[in-house]
Amino acid sequence: MQRRQFLTAASAGVIAQLLTPAAMAQSADFWSLPRTVWLYRTATREQVRETYFADGKIIWGGYERLCQILRDTHANEAVEMSPVLLDILYGVQAWLAFNGIQRPLLTNSGYRTAWTNANTEGAARNSLHMEGRAWDGRVPGVATESLARFGLYLSGGGVGFYQAKNFVHLDDGRMRFWRG
Ligand SMILES: [Zn+2]
Repeated sequence: MQRRQFLTAASAGVIAQLLTPAAMAQSADFWSLPRTVWLYRTATREQVRETYFADGKIIWGGYERLCQILRDTHANEAVEMSPVLLDILYGVQAWLAFNGIQRPLLTNSGYRTAWTNANTEGAARNSLHMEGRAWDGRVPGVATESLARFGLYLSGGGVGFYQAKNFVHLDDGRMRFWRG
């Protein structure tokens, strides 16, 4: 095995070892902390880091700014995104932070208008993106498969693993898993 291959394998192993969500659940009651999500929008290079929920209440300003960056960037149209979807993204980010990874979630897609959805390759006809209940993206330096696995652990809804295209789909719908 060449050194370069070894390093790749070793870092993949490290990521796999980070997959100890049970340890995270024991160590921190992260759901009682203010819920902040940090997003980077690939298409527009926008970035926001906003708290949308704290002390048992929605923080409307932060929530709206997150909805805005999750808009349909083709139609330039935003909707109220599912707070449960934001909780899923927050859970993913809390898990990453627990493992010392402080990076924005690279966002390919959030809300989609019916037109954009119909013109998105591989999109489901009744996609939850059209209801503001789904997110597609990745985190640089984190194996997409690890993200998908953590999504499954969270049990917040559907998880799609798109290995070749290097992103995961997360939604707040029925719990299910598929490979794209
Ligand atoms: Zn999707």
